[in-house]
Amino acid sequence: MTIRIHGPATARAPLVLDSPHSGTDFPPDFDAVVSEFDLRDGEDCFVDELYLPATELGVPLLAAQFPRTYLDPNRHHGDIDLELLDGGHWPDEYRPSGKARLGQALIWRTLGDGRPIYARKLTVAEVRSRIERCHAPYHRAVRQLLDEAHARFGRVYHINCHSMSAVANAQSDDGAGTVRADFVLGDRDGTTCEAAFTQVVRDLLTTMGYAVKINEPYKGVELVRAYSAPAQGRHGLQVEINKRLYMDEATRSKHAGFTELQTNLTRLVAELARWAAR
Ligand SMILES: [Zn+2]
Repeated sequence: MTIRIHGPATARAPLVLDSPHSGTDFPPDFDAVVSEFDLRDGEDCFVDELYLPATELGVPLLAAQFPRTYLDPNRHHGDIDLELLDGGHWPDEYRPSGKARLGQALIWRTLGDGRPIYARKLTVAEVRSRIERCHAPYHRAVRQLLDEAHARFGRVYHINCHSMSAVANAQSDDGAGTVRADFVLGDRDGTTCEAAFTQVVRDLLTTMGYAVKINEPYKGVELVRAYSAPAQGRHGLQVEINKRLYMDEATRSKHAGFTELQTNLTRLVAELARWAAR
């Protein structure tokens, strides 16, 4: 299975979580020339596990099982890197985001440090197969969870769950060396949810003692863009957690802060489920 839904199959409150970047199941056809450790570059390590206890509150959590470097579900399926493609021509829908320049379009071409992931180009058939096996089921599942909750409650709040490096690297928009806040909330400059949703998340986190920034440097990408329509009661918010709160980035292992953060995220989701059902 390339995706997994933790918790209830349908939301018991108008709240849905998804974690697109925490998968660690390496598909046998990856054919990368760098190590599995290196291929976990850009992974939002343990983010699904951080939110797992919150699913017991009746809130479903969709989690990608495949690695982000294999295919990034937080991209449009037409965001194809032509430089990685055998023949350089993509016959299906083409919707470039500009991330191909960094080697980080739908299918990553390079690691964060610029090293190539493959010793060859990928065929059109290989790229289509990854879209059909990973991107399509992920997006079908997130749409279905949101649609069902919206049909039942007349509105739905979607939290798109991520984590970020403690300090920006050379490819980051905020400039190498920038030290990040504990949380960054992204509503694409107020376009993907009502302002009250961003505010309640910010206030709950601030009360817990966290430093929170909004849309700086992360505004939210494809998953909050594609499924939000605030005027129709469809609200999406990207939540980036600073990795220093729960893990050692160099070894990619959890540290002692993991449990406290997990407890606080469970409280956050509990409060939000109550708030969303108000
Ligand atoms: Zn992410």
